[in-house]
Amino acid sequence: MATIELQVSSLLPETAAETFIVNAGDPFVHEIRQGQTVRIVDLEGNQAVDTLFYNAHDYADRYSAQDTIRAQGNLYLTTGTRIISTESNVLLTITADTCGRHDTLGGACAQESNMVRYAIEKRYMHACRQSFLRGLQNWKHGMEKRDITSNINFFMNVPVTPEGKLTFEDGVSEAGKYVELRAEMDVLMVISNCPQLNNPCNAYNPTPVQILIWDAHVQ
Ligand SMILES: [Zn+2]
Repeated sequence: MATIELQVSSLLPETAAETFIVNAGDPFVHEIRQGQTVRIVDLEGNQAVDTLFYNAHDYADRYSAQDTIRAQGNLYLTTGTRIISTESNVLLTITADTCGRHDTLGGACAQESNMVRYAIEKRYMHACRQSFLRGLQNWKHGMEKRDITSNINFFMNVPVTPEGKLTFEDGVSEAGKYVELRAEMDVLMVISNCPQLNNPCNAYNPTPVQILIWDAHVQ
């Protein structure tokens, strides 16, 4: 698979069954039924959308970065990527992508990583792991800290150098760019729309994203 596979969707926003706005710093938790398609729109550009996926009928079966990377033989997620779970189920497939670069190596920002990466006084700044926890608590299905494992960072640019080093770079996304995924089974999607103010991945300016969901019969 090539590194970047740009693909425009044929789905029209006016035919979406549901539409949501998620502000920066907010979590968003929603079930995506088998056959439904979800689109995440980077409304203002250069936003990082940290996302967890689970089998909706067994939350212990959840997104596996390792298996997803191994199955496609590539570190980056783009059109054609199959999102694979820890039990080797295909949770979703990326069916459209106008950004072309999504990370799954960098992890979600945390108070601890803010201290290590930036400065000790950054400890009190809001981070994605807190948003994930808030989302899971509001979901009220007994999920907690141990359920936050590997995640995808949609629209985030974390290139790997020829020497194998990870670098956090300016985002490559722009206003209106989107990624679209078709659910291959019933999944739970947990988003933290990143509040990070210290990382160039979102141009130091966290902004809202839009979520659209189409029912299977529309496609
Ligand atoms: Zn974050």
